[in-house]
Amino acid sequence: MHLREFQQSIEAIYGARDRQRRTDGTFRWLVEEIGELARAIRDGDPDAAHVEISDVLAWTVSVASLCGVDVEQAASRYARVCPKCHDAPCVCAVEPRF
Ligand SMILES: [Zn+2]
Repeated sequence: MHLREFQQSIEAIYGARDRQRRTDGTFRWLVEEIGELARAIRDGDPDAAHVEISDVLAWTVSVASLCGVDVEQAASRYARVCPKCHDAPCVCAVEPRF
């Protein structure tokens, strides 16, 4: 399945409800799903991680649609090379996070 088809499918299934919830409300659901993915990773539960990643993808696509973003076009930014250093594999300096 291509990303554009996935976005059209999510729009057909959830578009009306997403528009009713509006962008802020839908974005809050996405954040909640990211929290559930974090829990699955922390628990070392690959089945739960599988489910939560699919939820995060679906909610991300919903937010994209509400923002007028074509996810296939957005993903193409990362399709071949790193968008920052324009290389593959990425050669950007690794920044310490925590
Ligand atoms: Zn890079």
